[in-house]
Amino acid sequence: MKIHAFQCVACQQQHPTQLHQCTCGAPLRVLYTSKPRATWQQIRKHQAGHWRYAPFLPDVARRISLDEGHTPLVTDGRLHFKLEGCNPTGSFKDRGTTVEISLANRPVVCATTGNMGASVAAYCAQAKLPCTIVLPRNTPLQKKKQISIYGARVHTVPGHYTHAVEQARHIAERTQAYLAGDYALRREGEKTVAYEILDQLDYTPDRIICPMGNGTLVSAVWQGLLDFKRAGLIRQLSQLIGVQASGCAPIATAYRTGKGLRAVHPHTIASAVACGDPLDGLLALRAIKESCGAIFTISDADIIRARHAMAREYGIDAEPAGVLPYAALQRLKGNKQTVLVITGNGMKDLKHV
Ligand SMILES: [Zn+2]
Repeated sequence: MKIHAFQCVACQQQHPTQLHQCTCGAPLRVLYTSKPRATWQQIRKHQAGHWRYAPFLPDVARRISLDEGHTPLVTDGRLHFKLEGCNPTGSFKDRGTTVEISLANRPVVCATTGNMGASVAAYCAQAKLPCTIVLPRNTPLQKKKQISIYGARVHTVPGHYTHAVEQARHIAERTQAYLAGDYALRREGEKTVAYEILDQLDYTPDRIICPMGNGTLVSAVWQGLLDFKRAGLIRQLSQLIGVQASGCAPIATAYRTGKGLRAVHPHTIASAVACGDPLDGLLALRAIKESCGAIFTISDADIIRARHAMAREYGIDAEPAGVLPYAALQRLKGNKQTVLVITGNGMKDLKHV
């Protein structure tokens, strides 16, 4: 689809290009010139994978792709594990990155807790675009090494992810680089997790459980469900369950208290969701509320226990953040059709194994 503008999700102001946020501080979303339209038959004419859903994504002149998507959906009764760690760089981030880097056309800078950095570095290598990745000093070693192997320039900052985000914005402003990150275009790409779950199951699951850091994934999944409902491809919507680490739970706190989002200093082994000032917190809250969902928080000790349990019970390993949906399962009642979005591969972080 052709992009018309980038609209603020709070004050509705429209911007001609993607900014990291509106002048009012809220996130932006992509507005298109037309409504997405496709039948299941038209979609399934194309080979399985992220770009099968191109009618629901921004138009790109040059597609930068590592054949992301078509990740396994492993089913055990009414439980379904969506293995996003099987993407080319080991996390769901590749779905957003293929869209962003296909549209970047200039040097790229990106702040990361690790996974997005590896993904952006890999796609920039294919696009032959110079790439600078900014990450917190305490990023897991495997992730730091994974980023450097693709040839990205790496800046390490003291402090947390929020500091890396500020640093990346400064570099982008100074050098006119494309600022990659959890912004409007990436959210569009991440919608394909939802499209693919619906495509693979052939029905709408009762609930979808996602880890929450910046809140971009859960809001993208909600948008994906809405897109397919509006296009007449599904009738029902799923309930969305968001899961945060107890040591970094600003979205959960805002949901519980109703007092709005307040930044926190993260303290958790789930580094991939250690986003103290969540960029898409507002949209994540909306997605959870509109879907009549819920938010849970999980302690580091329970994450470690759940990681071992999931690996031994199902043969599925994930990095600590990717275990959050499984860890949240025991808090949910009823034997419903449930999809767990397992966001990152276990081999990305072996420290607590
Ligand atoms: Zn605004």
